[in-house]
Amino acid sequence: MNTKPTTFLGILMDSSNGNQRESGEIKVNTSSITFESESQKVEFSFHLLQITNGGNNRELIFFAHPNKVGLTFYTTQKAILNESVFHEDPELKAQIMVLKSSRRKIVIGTSIGFGIVIAIIISLFLLKETFVEALAHKAPIEWEAKIGDKLFESLKYQYEFIHNDSLEQEFLIAAKPLIEQVRKDGTKVEFYFIKQATINAFALPGGKVVIQTGLIDHAKSWEEVLGVVGHELAHVSCRHHLRGVINNLGLYVIVSSLIGDFNSAAGAIINTGGDLASLSNDRAFETEADETGMNNLIASHIDPKGMISFFNTLKKESGSKMDDYTSFMSTHPATSERIQHLKELLENRKYYIRPVKGDFKAFKKHINQLK
Ligand SMILES: [Zn+2]
Repeated sequence: MNTKPTTFLGILMDSSNGNQRESGEIKVNTSSITFESESQKVEFSFHLLQITNGGNNRELIFFAHPNKVGLTFYTTQKAILNESVFHEDPELKAQIMVLKSSRRKIVIGTSIGFGIVIAIIISLFLLKETFVEALAHKAPIEWEAKIGDKLFESLKYQYEFIHNDSLEQEFLIAAKPLIEQVRKDGTKVEFYFIKQATINAFALPGGKVVIQTGLIDHAKSWEEVLGVVGHELAHVSCRHHLRGVINNLGLYVIVSSLIGDFNSAAGAIINTGGDLASLSNDRAFETEADETGMNNLIASHIDPKGMISFFNTLKKESGSKMDDYTSFMSTHPATSERIQHLKELLENRKYYIRPVKGDFKAFKKHINQLK
């Protein structure tokens, strides 16, 4: 049998001496426990020995004895509780059992508390999109419209607009079912044509949609044009401009609006109003706009395959001189993956289509005469 006592690092506290602390060694002997430093030795016999724990996480093991009032020593080495001599003494063994179970509760309690915090953080991130969406829909559409109007003013200096009543009428007749569908959820829409050879159409926050003549030139049918228009209108109705800004502002705005302080959130959003100009080229927004756009086309009985055939045209065009940074292609990469997703959306889906009113070739000719 190994009679050599095990030693642990310890600290002695002396309350009779102004709580002075001294470090030394704790030795567990066969019937007593001793603290030894260079200057002193304190011995507690097992009989009436008190073992307790303390500290923030009860990580400190204290030893005290009623015969040595005011003296306490402790160690952070929990292994001391496993010393077999303690367990041979029924009184000490009982004290150690109590200590171990209280420590376990603390550990479990701490991990539950920590787990809850982690769970809240994770769910905030997972649900962030949902919060952002809810928040964007809570904000008045007039905000976006005001910013959209400002942007539109600046476009007037950059582009040459085509103002022609009969051309606009031809377009509105063709797009009428789609416009009516989109207006159902309160989205306001207005259309403008600009003389620009690149293939593009873009929506401003609030609902102004600008169509470039290059888009009409490269489209083969009304269905293709309306496919792009459906996608752009979905960016408006899904509040993507605003959601993009809120996303960039981060959790602050979400959390402050969740706790009811919508005004401070609103202030933060308005301050970054300029950022509403550009749709952050967010893939999730693009997918949502494709899907919502396609649903709106189907609901308005416009052949949704026009959207797919136009993306195929874009795919062929990409790499050619058309890959101007202002083009639809730069913000809407016509990848095989995207086209495949659009095709999948139509699989096993029942819908009926009606021909779009108006002669597309005549419209194309008309717009070319005005260029
Ligand atoms: Zn888009």
